[in-house]
Amino acid sequence: MARVYNFSAGPAALPEGVLSEAADEMLDYRGCGMSVLEMSHRSQDFQSIFDDTESTLRRVLGIPDTYRVLFLQGGATLEFAGIPMNLMRNGRAGYLVTGNFARKAWQEAEKYGQADVLATSEDTDFDRIPDLDGLSVPEGEDYVYICQNNTIYGTMFHDLPETGDVPLVSDVSSCFLSCPMDVSRYGLVYAGAQKNAGPAGVTVVIVRDDLLADGPALTCCPTYLDYRLESEKGSMLNTPNTFGIYLCGKVFRWVEEQGGLAAMGAVNAEKSGMLYDYLDASETFHGTARPGSRSIANVTFRTDSVATDAAFIAGAKERGLVGIKGHRLVGGMRASVYNAVPVEGVAALVSYMREFESGRSS
Ligand SMILES: *Cc1c(COP(=O)(O)O)cnc(C)c1O
Repeated sequence: MARVYNFSAGPAALPEGVLSEAADEMLDYRGCGMSVLEMSHRSQDFQSIFDDTESTLRRVLGIPDTYRVLFLQGGATLEFAGIPMNLMRNGRAGYLVTGNFARKAWQEAEKYGQADVLATSEDTDFDRIPDLDGLSVPEGEDYVYICQNNTIYGTMFHDLPETGDVPLVSDVSSCFLSCPMDVSRYGLVYAGAQKNAGPAGVTVVIVRDDLLADGPALTCCPTYLDYRLESEKGSMLNTPNTFGIYLCGKVFRWVEEQGGLAAMGAVNAEKSGMLYDYLDASETFHGTARPGSRSIANVTFRTDSVATDAAFIAGAKERGLVGIKGHRLVGGMRASVYNAVPVEGVAALVSYMREFESGRSS
């Protein structure tokens, strides 16, 4: 069995132990005589898997009791609509547009109300997080929305905007469980699992109780997206992604066993730091995100030619370093160094960058 180092942005690498445990349990889940894939979501066995998944996540993230946790489907993209439909009580929200997914969320929100762009970095091709010191939140905004880690552009909020009493809503899809996070700073945080927390098809939504109390802000909100109802039904208003939730539970437990979010944050800083250090000294490769805005999860870089990028990507693949082609919107390269990507994988990538660069200059 030859496992590669997988730097894909999502779906992405999963811890090997999680995969082999799931493989061992595939035909007979712990004496049930069936696979989790075959189990009723209403069964006691599945309910225990679900409860254990949620309680592990609550421990790992330190989620306060005043927050509900939902396991939904439809990806982060469906929540671009779910968020305004549930939260736009005054019909207005502020958006910080720091990349493609933030822009999509803003455009979707405009269908349901007034979505104000409070700051953007589009003028410099999203190579940075805008300066937050001067940010002012107009009165009457129902929430302020950010995309905390910009998967395509390799930038990340290292500080959160101050929004006063206005709830902060954050898409943490690509930095979920990457480093410590204070859930109480947010009104709502959500993440598509396939970047760092499990397989595609599960979206984790963590939302403060009081924001749900009156049900969705918009009466046209689809039943499926009614966060209050989903919470009352324990995310089982309809059939959830049972197998996906089971795998997420295993990833959450793996994170806990590794030492939790502090340990994850340290190793992710180390891995991304190895790449940034190399990029800063390199003549051939250039990092594309500005230093103060760099992501610890997605490291974006390029050479000065598309042909050289392509040669590097092809050579990397031959060495078992896969998934480093940049997003089609921006080209270049992107190494996603999520939790399940080991330090040795990053060391192998840096070593190949060095080899490639010296091959070109000799
Ligand atoms: C991948 C990604 C999305 C889109 O997720 P889907 O699950 O495909 O809808 C949204 N936001 C961020 C930050 C992402 O990384």
